Amino acid sequence: MITKKNQATPDIIVVGGGAAGMMAAGRAAERGAKVILVEKTHRLGNKLLLTGGGRCNITNKAGLKEFVNAFGKNGRFLYRALTVFSNRDLINFFSSRGLEMRVDPDGKVFPVDDRAESVLAVLRQYIDDHQVRILHNTVVTNIIFQSGESLCAGGIRCADHSTLDAGKVIVAAGGMSYPKTGSSGDGYKLARQCGHSIVPLTPGLVALESDEPFLQELQGITLKDISLSVLVDGKKKVSEKGDILFTHFGVSGPTVLILSGIVIDALAAGRSVALSLQLRPADTAQELDPILQREFESCGTITLSRYLKEALPKSFALLFERRCAVEPGKRCSKINREERKRIVLCFADFRINITKPRPIEEATITRGGVSLEEINPQTMESRIVHGLFFCGEMIDADGMTGGYNLQAAFSTGYLAGESAVSD
Ligand SMILES: Cc1cc2nc3c(=O)[nH]c(=O)nc-3n(C[C@H](O)[C@H](O)[C@H](O)COP(=O)(O)OP(=O)(O)OC[C@H]3O[C@@H](n4cnc5c(N)ncnc54)[C@H](O)[C@@H]3O)c2cc1C
Repeated sequence: MITKKNQATPDIIVVGGGAAGMMAAGRAAERGAKVILVEKTHRLGNKLLLTGGGRCNITNKAGLKEFVNAFGKNGRFLYRALTVFSNRDLINFFSSRGLEMRVDPDGKVFPVDDRAESVLAVLRQYIDDHQVRILHNTVVTNIIFQSGESLCAGGIRCADHSTLDAGKVIVAAGGMSYPKTGSSGDGYKLARQCGHSIVPLTPGLVALESDEPFLQELQGITLKDISLSVLVDGKKKVSEKGDILFTHFGVSGPTVLILSGIVIDALAAGRSVALSLQLRPADTAQELDPILQREFESCGTITLSRYLKEALPKSFALLFERRCAVEPGKRCSKINREERKRIVLCFADFRINITKPRPIEEATITRGGVSLEEINPQTMESRIVHGLFFCGEMIDADGMTGGYNLQAAFSTGYLAGESAVSD
């Protein structure tokens, strides 16, 4: 067996140099452990640099309860991690190292200079300050065990067949999305080898595909400040206000990403899913009818076509004209009751059929992952293999947009690093 040359046996090996792995390695080393961080690519924090469109929405100012709720039914698992290393702790962590944070009115927290590079630089300094040794371009393929009766982590094996011993291994190998960043699902393989179950992996916070023929003409259009509802088998499940962006494959934008989880679950269960757009969200269909009647009367001589082009982006207005099946050249004042009803319906319930999510490679986050039942939430240690810890996106906890996912990666990483030293 080849062993990594010139590597004094560390106390702890951390697999993966993303947000969770850097925090885990830094915290364990700060507590006095000899730590080696093993990263598959030539650089740490590849995905971190993409976050928030390069601005890095690092956390959210929400309280603990809201944080837990942002992770749905699995949020309670994170309670301990979010308490041990909260959003306030994370903000202090960066500001005490010279990187100030700004809270936006919607609660999202960003570095004041809006640069993910600055966040990465602080983390890099943190692990360097505490002498974490980094092995770049090193792919971990196996967790190895100590000999003995119970299963105890004993180190790692790498793709070049070399091995590295350590009594504790923290796996922070990320999810499946944006595989070019290095996160291509290896962590799940490592967990499976150790006897862990993986909750099925699906894309999270992802754009949605549609088979509507009109998408080509809407490509690039954004409808702002509308209300979007998810209809499952025709029944409204949930609504969100915001923007929708039309693309060549379907729909995208932050509001669509937020709604994508419900859509994906319904599609997986074989249900039919549509998005219903309320183009004038302040008014229900009942309220809209008399409002439009007044507007059409006061618009007098202008045509429906002109009215719609003033209310909506041009290509969307053309589609609207076809859907409501009212002669576009008709003067507004001449529109009859039946025609107005069809126009009201298009404003209040403009439907777009949804066929599937975009592939997991394009998702913001991976849903599913290492089963939480097999991880101790107090420590992040495996309940199957002693001395093995999991943290970050690879565990079965995915949150809403708004900085929740990075906070969870940092909090679980911190807790894993802390626990691996104390264990
Ligand atoms: C485009 C985009 C934007 C996002 N924006 C935000 C945002 O603004 N706010 C937010 O909260 N969240 C955001 N997220 C989600 C956030 O990026 C993740 O939740 C977070 O990066 C997860 O951190 P992690 O350390 O668990 O995994 P990762 O950051 O994916 O790190 C895992 C690391 O493990 C390494 N690795 C994998 N396999 C191996 C192996 N076999 N051997 C060695 N190393 C390995 C990888 O190379 C990688 O460096 C965004 C995600 C995307 C894709």
